[in-house]
Amino acid sequence: MKSPIPDYLHEVVEACSGDNPGSTADYIPELAQADPDRVAVCLSTVDGVVYSAGDADAEFSIQSISKPFVYALALAEHGLDHVLARVGVEPSGEAFNELSLDSDSGRPLNPMINAGALTAHALVGPESATTDERVERVLRGLSAFAGRDLDVDESVFESELGTAYRNSAIANMLRSYSVIDGDPAETVRGYTRQCAITVTVRDLAVMAATLANGGVQPLTGQRVVPRPVVRQVLSVMMTCGMYDAAGDWMSTVGIPAKSGVSGGVLGALPGQVGIGAFSPRLDPHGSSVRGVRMCTRLSDDMGLHIMDGPEPARSAIRRDRTLRGPQGHTVRVCSLQGTLQFSGAEHVLRALSDEDAADRLDLVVLDLRRVHSVNDVADRMLREAVRRLRLDGLRVTVVDPERVLYTHPARGDESADEVVPTLGPFLGYERVGGGGQAAGV
Ligand code: GLN
Repeated sequence: MKSPIPDYLHEVVEACSGDNPGSTADYIPELAQADPDRVAVCLSTVDGVVYSAGDADAEFSIQSISKPFVYALALAEHGLDHVLARVGVEPSGEAFNELSLDSDSGRPLNPMINAGALTAHALVGPESATTDERVERVLRGLSAFAGRDLDVDESVFESELGTAYRNSAIANMLRSYSVIDGDPAETVRGYTRQCAITVTVRDLAVMAATLANGGVQPLTGQRVVPRPVVRQVLSVMMTCGMYDAAGDWMSTVGIPAKSGVSGGVLGALPGQVGIGAFSPRLDPHGSSVRGVRMCTRLSDDMGLHIMDGPEPARSAIRRDRTLRGPQGHTVRVCSLQGTLQFSGAEHVLRALSDEDAADRLDLVVLDLRRVHSVNDVADRMLREAVRRLRLDGLRVTVVDPERVLYTHPARGDESADEVVPTLGPFLGYERVGGGGQAAGV
């Protein structure tokens, strides 16, 4: 079978390209000359399968789409508090190049507008780093997200630097309020090189998939940034990534995203997919008209709105049976499945809450063979269940061949001796009760 996904993407490109309104960014001469008819879209799964349609090999400068990644590098290097002390996380409701600072804190409102992005750029690398060293770090960081070596387009860089009056004004404002140190002209030079890094929609999709995959690059397997950094970056993309259209985007498309003035749009849906789209003509907010259209269409067709998340809780318990062993002892086998988070773990606790269970049972078996992952809170909840069942006088065995439980850091492994790899010992027990479909194990 030929996968239908590329055909579908083709159809999306066609359907979104009927007309081509908007205009290319005219304040950067090199971008004003871009071929306005180019259009491309690409999807990358979180395990690195890439599908594309249109001019998927067309190269363009990353521009503002670099901002979330450089913010991620600054966070990974300095930690949240240090970065938050210099750049806020409030949507500005203003244009990306507004000369503005938060009136209370004196910080740029967020790292997606230029004031915050210039500040985040200046935070990458040691304070003593030269502009070239800093840009080199940014380039290496973005390359790690893309899984290949990226380069700066010198002509886009020269072109933007030659007319960077607005960004110079912003950088001087930042310097005068001591938000950045050093020479503002050098910060603008470094940031402008960052914006001139060349990518394709494929790169954008894979970079987005790295965020969607919790910070691990799906093709290289490299952990590029820690998971908490990804959460922070995606949150800021969700609230501020589309500038003064962020609320509209949140309600219609509902995917953490970032646009750039060369016509790129990047979207990252946690746990699912990374999206890259490209078409040079822009709307009044500075986002690609056809790029926004394609993302809207993908979100509608594929149910990608983040508020349409799955409801795993109902299916956390796969089977729950009571069995009688040859020596006459009674065993409750509770088989769980899927990805366990708070709501799924709450279902399990609810099912196991029975203060008189020790009168009727000798042993409780928690069967985790079909559980893919247990997040931190579910891990704590299940461990607490095990502890309380034991306090009630029951024996508890956890069947956990993949060791999905007891893996979260900062807690001991005191129950490891009760963890077994198979349900083998209970094979042949006779079923005496419970809500499962099949008898036996
Ligand atoms: N380099 C551009 C600028 O600073 C990036 C803006 C954008 O893509 N929205 O003006």
